[in-house]
Amino acid sequence: MDAEVRPVVREMERQARFPAAQIKKLSDLGCCGMLVPEEWGGSRIDTICYVLMLEEVARVFTAMSTTLGVTNSAVQVPLLCFGTDAQKQKYLRRLASGEILGAFCLTEPGAGSDAAGIQARAIQDGSVYRLNGTKTWVTNGGVAGVYIVFAKTDPRAGGKGISAFLVEPGFPGFRVGRHEEKMGQMSSPSVEILLNDCVVPEENRLGQEGQGLKIALSALDGGRIGIAAQAVGLSQGALEESVKYAKQRRAFGKSLSEFQAIQWMLADMQTEIEAARGLLYQAAWLGDSGGHMGTWASKAKLYASEMANRVAYRAVQIHGSMGYSRETEVERIYRDARVLSIYEGTSEIQRMIIARDLLKRD
Ligand SMILES: Cc1cc2nc3c(=O)[nH]c(=O)nc-3n(C[C@H](O)[C@H](O)[C@H](O)COP(=O)(O)OP(=O)(O)OC[C@H]3O[C@@H](n4cnc5c(N)ncnc54)[C@H](O)[C@@H]3O)c2cc1C
Repeated sequence: MDAEVRPVVREMERQARFPAAQIKKLSDLGCCGMLVPEEWGGSRIDTICYVLMLEEVARVFTAMSTTLGVTNSAVQVPLLCFGTDAQKQKYLRRLASGEILGAFCLTEPGAGSDAAGIQARAIQDGSVYRLNGTKTWVTNGGVAGVYIVFAKTDPRAGGKGISAFLVEPGFPGFRVGRHEEKMGQMSSPSVEILLNDCVVPEENRLGQEGQGLKIALSALDGGRIGIAAQAVGLSQGALEESVKYAKQRRAFGKSLSEFQAIQWMLADMQTEIEAARGLLYQAAWLGDSGGHMGTWASKAKLYASEMANRVAYRAVQIHGSMGYSRETEVERIYRDARVLSIYEGTSEIQRMIIARDLLKRD
């Protein structure tokens, strides 16, 4: 990441360019299929290795770790768990090798946290489904080779009437709409997907009719650990920049690092990062050891994403006016951090999950 990616981060971010060549380099190292077994073209090792990879990518360029998180966990894991052999043959192999990227289309203009409230419709018409609706904030939209799209096959059944579909960008009626104008993570595309009588073959339904919400929620459960890894990596990057700057910048005849106020900020940053890292590795280890990850991924995501915002705030503070300048890494990091407590389940939703689990016990 330091040798191959860091030199291009500023240019990519300023131009809001998707780092296709850098993603390709990571996919050559196996980073695009880390949760998929070798028999389906992946490089599956374990969850600990996966979160270490995301942490390291996010330390240098968080936008790239968002792309990798979505294709690995939000797309390939549901395909691995719910796909038919034919679907795995057709899509999973290419995803796991990094030949194509995946995208996950759940959120709509009128439904985010309330996933059961989506309005997109899928109506069966002989051997195909016709999909209509608008999806927003689709990460990897416009650069993905396959999209998991959630739509209602039985609107009267509420959350139980949602189904999932594997949609190719070349299917009739599929269109990439506007790109969101964002605060940060400029090199990670977030787009609108417009489905206008989009024709999807029946064999591209993922899982059974009505299983869509279960598929979506299980994908988000797994994704949370990835966001926690991004948050830890981003924060580590912010800390490294801050230590470097504190040693080099002088004020009142001393280096900043000699002021106790600065030392305490650095000490708090490091302590909180290590606390989040502990939660993250605990969740990953539970996932790997066959134990029930339960609410550990939610706890890791909640704490790490909010911690990343505190750390990024202090990093900017330590840099003074330079922290507010686009010349520094920490200015980008501050903007990139903000979304971590929003996407793949907001902090409020994580607290609901954790509290619900706590209160259901005797
Ligand atoms: C950069 C980016 C990338 C994204 N990528 C994707 C993607 O690839 N695919 C995809 O499908 N979506 C994606 N999203 C969407 C994201 O998952 C949603 O934004 C998120 O789930 C929150 O939904 P919302 O924005 O509609 O907020 P809302 O659901 O409208 O929530 C607004 C506020 O109300 C709070 N709130 C809502 N319900 C409750 C409740 N019951 N109790 C207490 N508080 C509540 C929320 O916590 C939040 O603070 C992305 C978003 C961003 C910003």
